[in-house]
Amino acid sequence: MNDFVHLHVHSEYSLLDGYASTRAIAQRAADIGMDSIALTDHGVMYGAVEFYESAKKAGIKPIIGVEAYMAAGAHNERSGDYFHLLLLAKNEVGYRNLVKLTTRAHLHGMYRKPRIDRALLAQHSEGLVVTSSCLAGEVNQQLTQQQKKKAREDCPVVQGCV
Ligand SMILES: [Zn+2]
Repeated sequence: MNDFVHLHVHSEYSLLDGYASTRAIAQRAADIGMDSIALTDHGVMYGAVEFYESAKKAGIKPIIGVEAYMAAGAHNERSGDYFHLLLLAKNEVGYRNLVKLTTRAHLHGMYRKPRIDRALLAQHSEGLVVTSSCLAGEVNQQLTQQQKKKAREDCPVVQGCV
């Protein structure tokens, strides 16, 4: 068994950023000896159910997630920047919170992308693991712009890294 687990994986539901079907992702992870794998499509959870079923069928643990779009300001303002933020469900409460967050993002946060914001995340954070995401994440954007002090304030995890 392989100890490594991919926690940031895009499927065909991440338009222009993913290619593989959720079934192929689950089967490939099982074939190379992984015991679990995450699905973290951009802003949506369209593949969550088929991914869950495919992973169970392949004998591995599915980790349901989403790479959310985090508005720099309020999610319902039709302006401003957004960042990527990776959210993973630890349990059923976390899964239900992911559903709530992605639904709110589509209903009230749609401006260029379906966005959430910090207040909404704080309201629905139980059962979630949050990571700094990719280079388009807020902390990483600040680090690439040499704003180390702001990165530290936003994410205590990076304190030892900068
Ligand atoms: Zn990203």
